[in-house]
Amino acid sequence: EDTIPAVLIRTANLWPEREAVVFAAEGVRWTWAEFSARIDRLAWGLLRLGLGHGDRLGIWAPSRSEWVLTQLATARIGVILVNINPAYRLHELEFALRKTGCRALVLAETFKSSDYVAMINGLSPELARSQPGQLECRKLPDLRDVIVLGAAHHPGCYRFVDVEAMGDDYDRSELDAITERLDRNEPINIQFTSGTTGAPKGATLTHRNIINNAHFVTNAMNATEADRICIPVPFYHCFGMVMGTLGCVTKGATIVVPDEGFDAQATLTCVAAERCTALYGVPTMFVAMLEHPGFAQHDLSSLRTGIMAGAPCPIEVMKQVQSKMHMSEVTIAYGMTETSPVSFQSATNTPLEKRVTSVGQVQPHLEVKIVREDGSLANVGEQGQLLTRGYSVMCGYWDEAERTAEALDAEGWMQTGDLARIDAEGYCNITGRVKDMILRGGENVYPREIEEFLYTHPDISQVQVFGIPDHKYGEIVAAWIVARAGAVLCEDDIKDFCRDQIAHFKVPAVIRFKDDLPMTVSGKPQKFVMRDAMIEELS
Ligand code: ATP
Ligand code: MG
Repeated sequence: EDTIPAVLIRTANLWPEREAVVFAAEGVRWTWAEFSARIDRLAWGLLRLGLGHGDRLGIWAPSRSEWVLTQLATARIGVILVNINPAYRLHELEFALRKTGCRALVLAETFKSSDYVAMINGLSPELARSQPGQLECRKLPDLRDVIVLGAAHHPGCYRFVDVEAMGDDYDRSELDAITERLDRNEPINIQFTSGTTGAPKGATLTHRNIINNAHFVTNAMNATEADRICIPVPFYHCFGMVMGTLGCVTKGATIVVPDEGFDAQATLTCVAAERCTALYGVPTMFVAMLEHPGFAQHDLSSLRTGIMAGAPCPIEVMKQVQSKMHMSEVTIAYGMTETSPVSFQSATNTPLEKRVTSVGQVQPHLEVKIVREDGSLANVGEQGQLLTRGYSVMCGYWDEAERTAEALDAEGWMQTGDLARIDAEGYCNITGRVKDMILRGGENVYPREIEEFLYTHPDISQVQVFGIPDHKYGEIVAAWIVARAGAVLCEDDIKDFCRDQIAHFKVPAVIRFKDDLPMTVSGKPQKFVMRDAMIEELS
C-alpha cells in the first residue's frame, strides 16, 4: 500500500548489514545500508540537476548496477522513470523520448559492441556543441540532461559518476520530507510493452501498482530476507525491475545479477558461486541453461524456487527445471506490463501437476473474468478472452487516450488480448493470444496447442506455430522449428509425428528448420517477424 521509497526505507532499517545487491560481472556488492545511501546520493544529484516531481527520466541501458540505483533514486524523489529497451535504435529511442517528453536520459556508453553515445549524437547533433545540462535539441525539445555510464567524458554529457558526486552532501531528512509528500497513486514508471505483437505502448504505472505486485509475487515464492534471487532477465522489463528488484526490496532478499545481458554460462556460474536460492527466467533462458554443454558441471543445489514467466511455459521445460535444476518449488507467473505485471501465479505449495500445467490461481486482491467474443461471460473451463481488474491495472498508456480506451473499459477491466480458460478450482491456462489465433477454412486453430504437442518430439528444441495467408483456406498452419544440437530433421519427420496424433487441419502445412527464433530482447519469440519472413520466403 506504500510508496516505493517508504518500503525501501523500511527494508534498509530492518536489515542494514545484510547483502542487498550483487552484480557479479561488475564486482559490485552493497549492503542495504550502503545501497540506500547510494540511492540517496544519486537522488540528491538528480535534484541538483533540476529534476523534480513528475519529470520524466529515460534509461537506455542494460542490467547494470546504475540501473537499479536510478530506478530507486527517481522513485525517492517522484521523478517518473521511463524504461527504454537497450535493443532500441534511434528511430525507436526518439519515439520513446518524444512520446514521454523525457527531460533527462541515462544511457550506456556501449553494450554488445554498439556505441550508444555515437547513436545519441546521431539523434541530437547539438549535443556535442552544448554544455552539460544546456542541451537544446531540435528533435527533442524537452531533453536537457544526458548522463552517460562509464569513466570517459563526452561533450555535452554528464558522467553518471559526476551526478552521483553532486549528491555527496545529500540531506537525508530533506529527502525523507520529499518522500513523505509522494502519493502512492501517482505515476512513477512508464514501461513500454515488449512489442511482441507490434509497436510498443507506454504503460503508465503508479507506486501502488508495482510495489504491491512485487510484494505478492515474492510472497507466492515464500521469499524472505534469507533468499538470494538470481535475476538474468533485463531490468528495462517489468520481470527484472518489478518482480526482480522491487520484489527483493519488499522482502529484503538479495538482488543477484549475473551479467549485463543474459548469458547461460554466466547465469549458471553465478547461481553456483553466489549460492542463489531462486532463479528467474523466460522459458527460452531456461532452455538455454538446460541445453548448455557445461550444464552438469554446475552445482545448483542452493536453488529452491524461482519464476518462469513472460511467455508460454512448455510443460516439458517446467518438468526439467524442477527435476534437473533443484527448483522443486518453481512457480509459473502470467502477466503483462499493463497489469504491473503479474495476475496469475502458482505458489510453491501448489500441487506439482497444476504447477507445470497451468499458470496457477489469481493473485490476491485482483478480479478476473473470461469473456466470449460477444462480451458475455464464459462458462467454467470454456476458452475466451481474459480480463483483469484491480489495484495492479495501469492508469493508461502514456499520451495514447485512444489505445487506452480500447484496452481499458469504463469499469476498469483490462483486456489482456490473451485467450484463457479457468477450471473449477481457479487454475488458469493461457491458450494463446487472440491475435495469434489461426482461422483455417472455418476452423479455429490455436498455435499454443500445436506447440505443446511438438515440444514432445525428442529432437525439437524450440518451435513456434503461426498462420500464414493462403488463397484456398484463408490461412494455413506454419511451423518454425529449431532442432536440438546434432539432430537432423525433415518436414516428413514432423508430419509423420503429427499423423494420427492431432487433427489434420492442425498439422503444419509449411515447416521450416532454422537456427534460432527471432526474439524481443526480453526473450520472447516474435511470431509476426517469423510470419513475415516465411511469407517472404514463400513468395
Ligand atoms: P506487446 O503488447 O507490445 O505486443 P507483449 O504483450 O509481449 O508485447 P508484455 O507486456 O511484455 O508485452 O507481455 C505480456 C504478454 O506475455 C501477455 O499478454 C501474454 O501473452 C504473454 N505471457 C506472459 N506470461 C505468460 C505465461 N506464463 N504464459 C503464457 N503467456 C504469457
Ligand atoms: Mg501486450
